[in-house]
Amino acid sequence: MQALYEDGRLTQASSESPFRYKKYLSDAKGIKMSDLWTNIKPVRGKESCGYPTQKPLALYERIISAGSSKGDVVIDPFAGCATTCVAAERLGRKWAGIDIWKGAHRLVVARLQEASHSLQGRQVYYTKDPPRLTDPLPVTLLDDPTQYKRKPYGWVALKPAQIRERLETVQAVADKPGFIYCAACGRQLEQAFMQLEHIRANSDGGSNFIDNRVLICGPCNRTKSDRYSFKRLRQINIKTGWTVDRDIAAVVYKKVIRLHKRIKVEMP
Ligand SMILES: [Zn+2]
Repeated sequence: MQALYEDGRLTQASSESPFRYKKYLSDAKGIKMSDLWTNIKPVRGKESCGYPTQKPLALYERIISAGSSKGDVVIDPFAGCATTCVAAERLGRKWAGIDIWKGAHRLVVARLQEASHSLQGRQVYYTKDPPRLTDPLPVTLLDDPTQYKRKPYGWVALKPAQIRERLETVQAVADKPGFIYCAACGRQLEQAFMQLEHIRANSDGGSNFIDNRVLICGPCNRTKSDRYSFKRLRQINIKTGWTVDRDIAAVVYKKVIRLHKRIKVEMP
């Protein structure tokens, strides 16, 4: 026992727990799988679907077995003749296949039946609709002028007057119709004194879309011009005493940001 311990063959989870015998990989029988697999035969005979790039089912079964467990999801975005789907089904994985060929789904079903694998009454679902992006777009994409031209997202095509209108609704002074809060100094001013300004300057890569726009008063706009970010403008306003109500300005600015987010969701 002492010899085994000194040899690093005994292990303990804690000082109170019993000793356990430790097995090393080098003790295992056989040889470790290398990166050259020569014991899988190429596709031929009945297995062949006529695709020049078709891979053997046995190869995919080995890869899926090594890389996933039962119940995991396997997806093949270039499903071709559905070898991945068949292998995944046979190994009890959930699966999805994507292919540009319109008849791809028929081949999947045919091959699953051929492989005499019972789908146990389960259906193979498919759609021919092109895939659609459901996540919010990254800002870099929205700033891309080619995206703007194609107008895939309604809100990026809003004209300045429409942007103004929407900002006015959230920056309005509740009990004074026609008055707007400046989001940078908290002043209440008539609509005509409010200017549509960029949060991040154009010169700094800021876009003209609504997600980069805010209404601020003339003096705030002159201070900001292209020199400062909106955040810096608010700091300068506080420092110089131009801010009349810091809390109101912060609340109004938060409402503007919420509008930006809401519009992105409303206009996919
Ligand atoms: Zn102002």
